[in-house]
Amino acid sequence: MREDNNIPAERAGGVLCIDLTALQNNWKQLAKMSEPAECGAAVKAQCYGIGLDESVKALSAVGCKTYFVALPDEGRQVREAAPDAIIYVLCGLLSGQAKFYEKYDLRPALATPTQVSEWQEFCKTQNKKLPAALHIESGINRLGLTETQTRLLAKQTDAFAYFKLTLVMSHLACGDTPGDLKNEEQRQKFDQMRALLPDVPASLSNSPGAFLGRDFAYDMVRPGIALYGGNPFSDRANPMTSVAHLYAPLLQVRDICAGETVGYSATWTAKRDTKIGIIGAGYRDGISRALSSPASNGPACVFVGGHYAPIVGRVSMDLITVDLTDIPEEFQHEGQKVELMGRNITVDDIARWSGTIAYDVLTSLGSRYARVYSGLESC
Ligand SMILES: *Cc1c(COP(=O)(O)O)cnc(C)c1O
Repeated sequence: MREDNNIPAERAGGVLCIDLTALQNNWKQLAKMSEPAECGAAVKAQCYGIGLDESVKALSAVGCKTYFVALPDEGRQVREAAPDAIIYVLCGLLSGQAKFYEKYDLRPALATPTQVSEWQEFCKTQNKKLPAALHIESGINRLGLTETQTRLLAKQTDAFAYFKLTLVMSHLACGDTPGDLKNEEQRQKFDQMRALLPDVPASLSNSPGAFLGRDFAYDMVRPGIALYGGNPFSDRANPMTSVAHLYAPLLQVRDICAGETVGYSATWTAKRDTKIGIIGAGYRDGISRALSSPASNGPACVFVGGHYAPIVGRVSMDLITVDLTDIPEEFQHEGQKVELMGRNITVDDIARWSGTIAYDVLTSLGSRYARVYSGLESC
């Protein structure tokens, strides 16, 4: 994200302020809660769109040692930001990738018998006992060895002779709903399968799982979304602090008469004489087209001078239009700063308005903002 994003604030469509102190505090909160289990960090997809380099450095500075990425190349980026980190690559190991893993000291989360053989063979030929995790499937039916495959592996006399098994992991399907019975089913299945394997550290929980209590923490939790300020629950208030704050100025303010329409396809008609503000961010910038009025759980809003203003008409590629009529006049001018995401317009509000989840909102933010990594005072 960083590479394609060195736009200075004065030429960008908006400013995305990443509050690294909030990120660090979120990690510390999760780490304390999970003790004595270790708290790692899921930093895939450029830390959910927030920026990998800065975030990993900030997390390392407060004591985070273990990182989970999706792809080997993301692992390389973590290695560059945090030379001493332990890095697991969740998408496993494809044929021919082992050398890259070794070069950057990345640990594959081996998820199929083929991947296990590939790593065994590579370690054998290198004559090095390289570390790896074993990803086992406990009920989400995505990546991971089945119980039968795990049994077969456990029966091989030299199964763990050539590589070093450092973590056994699985992933929850319903952690965001603490009362769901599937959580306990998966936990029990995880225990049964773990019992077949060498006694090494175990990890089951993502962000919501980290809130399910001691039985779900095992030796390591792997939060992602909660670090970045998203609500780990689908049915409770958010215990985390917002990290991504997005601001953009009003580009123009125009008066229209009752009966006039705004935007593509003229989908919104003014019911009264209306003051319309135009903001230079659109769906290319992660302002989902689903926020167009009428949004399903809307109205979707922005926050101007202490007041909420609804988005009216279609969200287009580069622009949104908002109704400023009820905002005090002193804030209805070109250049007025508008909050598109932050303390007042939370990432979870945006997700709800656009019919998606905070993960999707953050990872869609795009590359046309100036990114400022620090406290909020500089935004
Ligand atoms: C993404 C991911 C996580 C982090 O999940 P959050 O819900 O963002 O906390 C943890 N484990 C695995 C396997 C993942 O893919």
